[in-house]
Amino acid sequence: MTDYRTLRVALLGAGAVGSQVAALLRRHADELADRAEARLELAGIAVRDVDAPREADLPRELFTTDAETLIVGSDIVIELMGGIEPARTYILQALNSGADVVTANKALLATHGSEIFDAADQVGASVYYEAAAAGAIPIIRPLRDSLAGDRVVRIMGIVNGTTNYILDRMDTEGAEFADVLADAQALGYAEADPTADVEGYDAAQKAAILASLAFHTSVPLDAVHREGITQVDKAMMDAARHAGYVIKLLAVCERLTTDAATEAISVRVYPALVPRTHPLASVHGANNAVFVQAEAAGNLMFYGAGAGGVQTASAVLGDVVSAARRHIAGGVGVGESTRANLPVVPIGHVTTRYQITLEVDDRPGVLATVAGILSDGRVSVATLEQTVVAEANGHPGVARLVIGTHRAREQDLSETVERLAASGVVERVVSVLRVEGD
Ligand code: NAP
Repeated sequence: MTDYRTLRVALLGAGAVGSQVAALLRRHADELADRAEARLELAGIAVRDVDAPREADLPRELFTTDAETLIVGSDIVIELMGGIEPARTYILQALNSGADVVTANKALLATHGSEIFDAADQVGASVYYEAAAAGAIPIIRPLRDSLAGDRVVRIMGIVNGTTNYILDRMDTEGAEFADVLADAQALGYAEADPTADVEGYDAAQKAAILASLAFHTSVPLDAVHREGITQVDKAMMDAARHAGYVIKLLAVCERLTTDAATEAISVRVYPALVPRTHPLASVHGANNAVFVQAEAAGNLMFYGAGAGGVQTASAVLGDVVSAARRHIAGGVGVGESTRANLPVVPIGHVTTRYQITLEVDDRPGVLATVAGILSDGRVSVATLEQTVVAEANGHPGVARLVIGTHRAREQDLSETVERLAASGVVERVVSVLRVEGD
């Protein structure tokens, strides 16, 4: 056996991901040593309760509740506790004591990323976070390294497995949101409190991380426009299918212009209509996918498991091997490039195509009124479909209008929809959805 230098590894957290990381570190110790050119000695595992049952068979003597002492003298600290505190404090302690850090903590990176990357820069250490954006899918390294010589134009990501599972079952089975959510909770795909997933918070954190990397800009979480999927119902799903689309919760990170003087980006999360012919439309179940468009490389798609203990552990261990190699080789760390420092524009300035579904009085002149309001609001109609949904005893019934627009500015569109709603001819604005990926 090769006589490698030994690196001391501290693991913080032994939950779904941490317990699998610990088990794999021990099971594949020799192989990992050959790849890292260092023996990775698991020095200890910090948890809240040393006697709690674990998903992997791990020696009791590895566990401690004293994370601070465990970090002292470690070469690599793997943070898999989640949450902001005490994870932030432990990561800063680790960096300041010269350790490299591996983390999967999207909530922390999306809110305190700059502070953590600056701290790493100051001491010449590195922070690795491949598992923070889409679980097992390699997307951080491709954005940071493989595409470092290219210019990313747009990222469209399905980065939350729970919402994709819900929307996929609504689409394929015609099920209602509440029923599928209850199933997802029973199956363990969704938390008892599903807010972080269904309201788009989790996807927004990942969008902030991806956009920061892709556009070499520090994107704060509060600059990410966020909408969840709780308004999506069976009728919207059916209408989308009828029109050749599927509804997906997308994280969209977009470079708005290539003109250097006015360059800006938009980062947004919302349910959007995706053409059924687009590769993202075939992402089923709880899977994730990130579709990247780069100036020179063209279209790239990264697909796979966006969560799961052992799947996520794969990405974490890849980072541990990278951290170990760097620790042995020395030199400056991977570093975060935020020099472009592009402004993030508010959602009102973004242009996309829309599909507006209205219920209107089915009588002469209504279509002309609707068309007039759209044109006054600078919203140009690309397609229009009308169906009568109700008619009673010779009285005017209700017609459903599905209006596909050309690209329109979000602010113009929302003001126009308000005017339509107040026009007297529109009974109900059924839905307004952006169209992405066509
Ligand atoms: P988890 O199952 O909730 O486990 C958290 C672990 O951290 C537990 O072992 C817990 O100890 C420990 N811990 C929490 N607070 C602590 C504290 N104050 N001091 C010491 N230990 C503490 O979490 P997880 O699902 O493994 O997720 C870990 C991280 O990976 C999170 O940042 C998450 O966002 C990220 N991630 C998870 C997945 C996934 O599929 N689960 C996917 C991608 C990224 P006890 O066990 O003693 O309570």
